[in-house]
Amino acid sequence: METKLALFGGPKSVTFPPEDMFTWPIITKEDEEAVLDVLRRGGMSGTDVTKKYEEEFAAWQGCKYALAFNNGTNALNAAYFACKVGVGDEVICPSLTYWASATPAYTLGATIVFAEVDPVTLCLDPNDIEHRITERTKAILVVHYLGHPADMDGIMAVAKRHNLKVIEDVSHAQGGLYKGRKLGTIGDVGAMSLMSGKSMVSGEGGMLVTNDQEIYERSIAFGHYERFGKDIQTPELQQFTGLPMGSQKCRMHQLSSALGRVQLKYYDARCEEIRKAMNYFWDLLEGVPGIRAHRVPKDSDSNMSGWYAAHGIYVPEELEGLSLTRFCAAVRAQGAPCSPGANKPLHLHPLFNTCDVYGHGKPTRIANSDRDLRQPPGSLPVTESLNARLYSIPWFKHYRPEIIEQYAHAYKVVAENYKQLLADDPGDPENLGGWHFFQHSAS
Ligand SMILES: *Cc1c(COP(=O)(O)O)cnc(C)c1O
Repeated sequence: METKLALFGGPKSVTFPPEDMFTWPIITKEDEEAVLDVLRRGGMSGTDVTKKYEEEFAAWQGCKYALAFNNGTNALNAAYFACKVGVGDEVICPSLTYWASATPAYTLGATIVFAEVDPVTLCLDPNDIEHRITERTKAILVVHYLGHPADMDGIMAVAKRHNLKVIEDVSHAQGGLYKGRKLGTIGDVGAMSLMSGKSMVSGEGGMLVTNDQEIYERSIAFGHYERFGKDIQTPELQQFTGLPMGSQKCRMHQLSSALGRVQLKYYDARCEEIRKAMNYFWDLLEGVPGIRAHRVPKDSDSNMSGWYAAHGIYVPEELEGLSLTRFCAAVRAQGAPCSPGANKPLHLHPLFNTCDVYGHGKPTRIANSDRDLRQPPGSLPVTESLNARLYSIPWFKHYRPEIIEQYAHAYKVVAENYKQLLADDPGDPENLGGWHFFQHSAS
């Protein structure tokens, strides 16, 4: 039955006020007390609270070592350094990700070779890695994009065959599972953001996790000068203790570690409710033309953890080519958040093509390479097509079926009445998505 869409004066789908459905992080008296305690005793620059946080984090992660950082970007920088990525080396990385997955290569005189993502998982495609490996390839950087675990079996098999390190960027998927294993400890090292927009929060912060002692100690050497001392066991590092090898100071602010400790205590229970809510939303949209869930198969022993920045996949072919921009505008008119696009492909930005960051006299991307490995438009067709196929969906923090049903209705009624939208479809602009982060709140 035809329903008049809200865009044309029909009724809205969402009538309940959002209240705290989208509020994140959840802050209670306990968080406030923990932060105030550090503040009142002037412990901001210490490491006592941070070390407790690391211990608890490692136990929760199920790994030997956890090392806290002032942000996720620096945790990734340290992970690259720890894997001995150096001058002239290449790291294979998806182009559909946040910049900090890739830019540590520049800091270390290395460079990036981008590979395709799988259009269903949106994570690194294990079948697009091997032909990009050269004698300079040192590591593979995996992103569990928008909370979806990457195909780690496929990726680890390629890495083993070529003796490459695997770095997991877990910034979208803290606590997520791949075949029952926690993300971040399947590869050689995991690094993640804990900034306040992510599903796991310490304020501003990052964490590096590993089972490898040398990787752990190189990460300390990189940016934790006051911990780079007599306890270091790795022989090559012992002679250099006392001063940081990376010219970086990456210590976590203890207002952050105090907050992070409290957040960690409640994280799994809160994520369980998020998963229940998000899976219910997608269940309601199962089989609707034009719309596909971005989620792991049901009854698998993988999961999406906290569903950071949840998105859906758009199939315009099923809606006579209706543009994503027009689709999203109609969903927003129904009262649900829906913005087109996600992260713009990194390989198309001038930073990865023309920019000479350090004054080499040539673009940094190829400053230490013996070939031009830049990747022009058209070189990663799957990745380049995805911003016209991804749209944000509501990121529910609570399981409240009646409210979730209203939001799901907003998408469903638009998809089922898409013909009303074809006439005035302006099409998609050249470039959907953004370089930084994207809106995922209700407002
Ligand atoms: C947020 C993010 C980072 C960087 O973390 P910060 O804490 O913001 O420095 C790295 N990688 C990905 C995929 C991210 O989303």
